[in-house]
Amino acid sequence: MTTEMHKETLGFQAEVRQLLDLMIHSLYSNKEIFLRELISNASDAADKLRFEALTDDGLFEGDSDLAIRVQFDPQARTVTVSDNGVGMSRAEVVDNIGTIAKSGTRQFLASLTGDRAKDLRLIGQFGVGFYSTFIVADKVTLYTRRAGLGPEHGVRWESDGKGEYTLETVERPARGTEVVLHLREGEEEFLDPHRLRDIVHKYSDHITLPIRMRKEGEADGPEEVVNRASALWARPRSEITAQEYEEFYKHVAHDFEPPLAHVHSHVEGKQEYTALLYLPQRAPFDLWDREKRHGVKLYVRRVFIMDDAEQLLPAYLRFVRGVVDSNDLPLNISREILQHSKDIDAMRAGSVKKVLDLLDDLAQKDSEKYTVFWKEFGRVLKEGIVEDYGNRDRIARLLRFASTHTDTDAQAVSFGDYVARMKEGQDKIYYVTADSFGAAKGSPHLEIFRKKGVEVLLMHDRIDEWVVTHLTEFEGKRLQSVTKGDLDLGKLEDKEDKAQQEKTATEFKDLADRIKSVLGERVRDVRVTHRLTTSPACLVTGENDISVNMERLLRAAGQSGASVRPILEINPAHPLVVRLRSEDDAGRFSDWSRLLFDQALLSEGGQLDDPAGFVQRLNQLLEVLAVV
Ligand code: ADP
Ligand code: MG
Repeated sequence: MTTEMHKETLGFQAEVRQLLDLMIHSLYSNKEIFLRELISNASDAADKLRFEALTDDGLFEGDSDLAIRVQFDPQARTVTVSDNGVGMSRAEVVDNIGTIAKSGTRQFLASLTGDRAKDLRLIGQFGVGFYSTFIVADKVTLYTRRAGLGPEHGVRWESDGKGEYTLETVERPARGTEVVLHLREGEEEFLDPHRLRDIVHKYSDHITLPIRMRKEGEADGPEEVVNRASALWARPRSEITAQEYEEFYKHVAHDFEPPLAHVHSHVEGKQEYTALLYLPQRAPFDLWDREKRHGVKLYVRRVFIMDDAEQLLPAYLRFVRGVVDSNDLPLNISREILQHSKDIDAMRAGSVKKVLDLLDDLAQKDSEKYTVFWKEFGRVLKEGIVEDYGNRDRIARLLRFASTHTDTDAQAVSFGDYVARMKEGQDKIYYVTADSFGAAKGSPHLEIFRKKGVEVLLMHDRIDEWVVTHLTEFEGKRLQSVTKGDLDLGKLEDKEDKAQQEKTATEFKDLADRIKSVLGERVRDVRVTHRLTTSPACLVTGENDISVNMERLLRAAGQSGASVRPILEINPAHPLVVRLRSEDDAGRFSDWSRLLFDQALLSEGGQLDDPAGFVQRLNQLLEVLAVV
């Protein structure tokens, strides 16, 4: 006997304990779902075995007839769900059952409110799978043996769900996993075969593996298959109920909540395949955790091939869940072959189109749902502008932004909305980028636009800078940053405006030159602006330079490329600027010029080279005012 054989008692991770407790209370009204979760896991275990067996047939150990069995024992008061799937090693049991490996667990627990309904939704979103057994059981015993390991490598795991579990290495001839639920007092309903069958029908009919139960009334007679055990997606759409679509989603996506929408299509022609793709309602906690992803499953002629086949959808659609089933690919396809398969490329292009069609449809016909989608996944979809050149225009139509039209941080304005509201004579789509909604909304660059009633898109997601470097126009209208280049409002300005601007520019030329000589290397130029109505100054970058915001993002990412020298624009109508014109004291002139520059930089969200100097100069200015 090795030391591994010994029985040990381990504590759950603190998070698991907290979660268990919470779940038992909040999911109680929906307790029957434990069976769905166990069957779903058994089905996943069968899929995993099939996938591993692609490269090692021996793992089947001569038994490739994969199935799930549901049993009950009224005397012992137990319900047992078993499978002959991949099973688990001792270490895997500890990792998968004793730990919650999801990133964001702590954050998740912190977000719980104590409000039952709300917490229930959160738990659903987090996904609690196996632990749902403790809603109805006061003790759960799990036996398992990993495919490929000898019978002496069986594992027995047991817990009352209160904080600890025991682990033992046992003899286990049968491959796969068996979960025995010792029912709590009062949960006898789950010892009723009718009830169990009903639950299987309700939640697990779509499972492609046969689910076997003993024939009713027969103590140990033959078993029968109690689910439909056929691939849901292979059936005609008209024969599938909303409930079936929903339960299938919960299984493939490991989600407790219904999906937001789905698209189901059988494609024929050069490529024959079926795609059943879903949009979740909510971003999972691990959306940004690239390690753990339940994406799109690949099947070939209804045989499961692999999970999360990355080649099936581009990264910017990584929130999509579902299956793609090919009629053409060989059954023994590997991940390596997938990467170079033209068939896969065609299915991928087709699937992308389906998802974009679905999004279009939602955006047009169900704006409420689209709003939900956008809030959860908008930032991911934006990556498509950078990543998917071929679909750029389609994706652009799906984007939503905050804007000065609504002045709220809700991203609700499409380019289409914007264009429809453009002023007479306006030929560009104006936008500002910043690192927060507040900074975008408060940007001094917006002053002239607000005055003229011209809408500006307020882009405040980190990725927006990249979006606008890749998307330069929308339906023939150029995208124009309000912080870049000369402000050319085109026909939005009349001749008088222009004449007046030229006049002041000449008048203030001397002042601009003096400020420039003070600021030296900090600026490329100083000039008079007509962008501002209330602020004294702002910074502008050249038409082809990166923006101040982008520069900051790059610096934060550790890329400190050549920094861009901005142009300082001064507002000739501002008292401070007017006052500066008549300032003869060279020291004071220099201080105030620096102040103008620094505060313009600050209002862009920029960082000062010399914050202490700024404060000092500001205080000196305030003192001067105080004296007056
Ligand atoms: P999820 O299914 O979303 O991963 P669960 O809590 O349902 O979460 O299951 C946790 C993990 O335990 C699974 O990911 C799997 O690795 C393992 N597991 C659970 N049930 C089985 C089983 N019947 N066979 C093999 N592994 C299993
Ligand atoms: Mg599960």
